[in-house]
Amino acid sequence: MEYKNFINGEWIGSKSKQKFENRSPANWEELIGVFPRSGPEDVDDAVAAAEQAFKKWRLVPAPKRAEIIFRAGELLRKSKEEISRDMTREMGKVLQETRGDTQEGIDTAYYAAGEGRRLFGETTPAELPNKFAMSIRQPIGVCGIISPWNFPMAIPTWKIFPALLCGNSVVFKPASDTPLTALKLVEILAEAGLPSGVINLVHGTGSGVGTPLVEHPRVKLVSFTGSSSVGRQIAAFGGKTLKRISLELGGKNAQIVMDDANLELAVEGALWGAFGTTGQRCTATSRIILHEKIKEKFLSVFIERVKRLRLGNGLDSSTDVGPLISEGQREQIQGYVEIGKKEGAKLVAGGRPFEEGECKKGWFYEPTVFDEVDQKMRIAQEEIFGPVVSVLTARSLSEAIEILNDSSYGLSSSIYTNNVNVALTAIRDIEAGITYVNGPTIGAEVHLPFGGVKDTGNGHRESGTAVLDVFTEWKSVYIDYSGKLQKAQIDNVVIQ
Ligand code: NAP
Ligand code: MG
Repeated sequence: MEYKNFINGEWIGSKSKQKFENRSPANWEELIGVFPRSGPEDVDDAVAAAEQAFKKWRLVPAPKRAEIIFRAGELLRKSKEEISRDMTREMGKVLQETRGDTQEGIDTAYYAAGEGRRLFGETTPAELPNKFAMSIRQPIGVCGIISPWNFPMAIPTWKIFPALLCGNSVVFKPASDTPLTALKLVEILAEAGLPSGVINLVHGTGSGVGTPLVEHPRVKLVSFTGSSSVGRQIAAFGGKTLKRISLELGGKNAQIVMDDANLELAVEGALWGAFGTTGQRCTATSRIILHEKIKEKFLSVFIERVKRLRLGNGLDSSTDVGPLISEGQREQIQGYVEIGKKEGAKLVAGGRPFEEGECKKGWFYEPTVFDEVDQKMRIAQEEIFGPVVSVLTARSLSEAIEILNDSSYGLSSSIYTNNVNVALTAIRDIEAGITYVNGPTIGAEVHLPFGGVKDTGNGHRESGTAVLDVFTEWKSVYIDYSGKLQKAQIDNVVIQ
C-alpha cells in the first residue's frame, strides 16, 4: 500500500519521488506501507498552503472551529479499533495501550472543542475613568508540529487540536516510524470538514523534513516532542531567530517506595510504569528507589513478576510486552545493559534480546532489572528508553528525594506511602512536572498540564488550558471612551 503527503487538501507524493518503507517492529517481514521521503521543496509547498489557509481560518469563530474538532473526535471514536490495531502493527505496543493512545486523542478532541466557547481572556478595570481594558488570545500563524513514534496519536492531537482551535494552521511532520497513524489523523480532520491547507502532512526524516520545517522563515512556532539532543538544536535555532519553540523532551522518572507503602500496589505500579510500552514512554519508570526496610521483600516479588511477563506480538491478547521500535533502539538498550554491568550494577532479570518462536523476527528485548545501582552510574542518569529499570536504595524520605532529584531530567515521579505527611513533603520537594501518589509514573489525563522541569523542556506545558499559552499570543486592548487624551501613570484621578 502506497501512501502520500497531504498538502493544500490534496494527497500527493514527494517532489523527489523518493519513498521509505514502514515495517512492523514485531515482524520485519510485515510491510505496513510505503510513504513519501519528502524534502525541503515539499515543506515549502506545505508552508505556503498553510500560510494562505491561515488568513481565512483565523477569522472563523472559535466555536465553529471547535465544531470541526468535535467531529474529528467523533470520527476517531468510530475508527478507534481500526486505528489502534494499525498502531500496534506499526509501532508494537500492546492493543490495550494503543486503544488508550487513541482514546487520549478522542479525549483531547472533546476537551479542545469545549474550549472553543471559552478561550478566555480577562476583562479588568482601567486605572483611568471612561476607559475599558481587556486581554484577548490571538493565533500565531503557521505551526510546525514534530512528533515522536511512541504515542503516535495522542501526542500529535495534544498539539494539533489546540493549535487549530486557537486559529493557527499546521504543517505536521510525524515520526518516520509511525506515518500511518499520523495519516489516519489527518484523514479524519479532512473528513471532519477542516478547510484545505489548514492542516498539511509531510512525511520524511528529521533532517529531510524536520530541519527545513523548523528553519522555515514563515513557520512562526515549532512544537516538538522528542529527544533532548534534537530539542537542544531546535531551541538553539529559536534562540537565534526568536521563533516560538515549545519542547517536550526526555525523562528519567523514578518511583519511590516507602517503608509504610502497600507493597502489592507498589509492585503493580512499578511493573506497569517500567514495562508498559516496553519502557518506551517519556514518563516510563526508569529508577525504583526503595526504602531499605522493604527492599528485599519488594524485590523478591517484583523480580518474580518481571520474569513472568510474556513477550509477543501486541495484537495477541496474551502479550504483556511488545517489541522495541527498531533494531537501532534494541542496540542502544543492549549497549546500556553492557554499561550497567561494567559499572558494577547487579543484573537480576533480563539483559538480552528475546528471540524465541515468532519473536525472532522482531525487535524484542527481555524486561531487565538492575539492582545495587549507584545514583551516579550512567544507567541511573541517562534516559535508556527501553525495558530496563534500575533499583536504588534509600534510608529515609529525604535521601529518597535527594536520589530522585539527582537527575538532569524532571518529567514524572511517583511515591508510594500511606503517610500523608510523607506524601505532601514529597509533592513539595520533588523536582518534576508530574508527581503521582500511590500510582505509577505514567497515566496523565488530558485536562491537566503535561510537561517537565530541567532538561525535560523549555518551560511550556501541553494539555489542559496551559497549552493555550503555547498556541496563542496575548493582546491587551485599551478602549478610551472619555473623548480626551488620558495619560496612564501621569494623569492623577482625584477622588472627591
Ligand atoms: P527524536 O529522534 O528526537 O525524534 C522526534 C521527532 O523529531 C521525529 O519526528 C524525528 O523524525 C524528528 N527529528 C529528528 N531529528 C530532527 C531534527 N534534527 N530536526 C527536526 N526534527 C527532527 O526522538 P525519538 O527517538 O523519536 O523519541 C524518543 C524521545 O522522545 C525520548 O527522548 C522521549 O523521552 C521523548 N519523548 C518525550 C515526550 C514528552 O512529552 N516529554 C513524549 C514522548 C517522547 P524521524 O522520526 O524521522 O527521525
Ligand atoms: Mg514501523
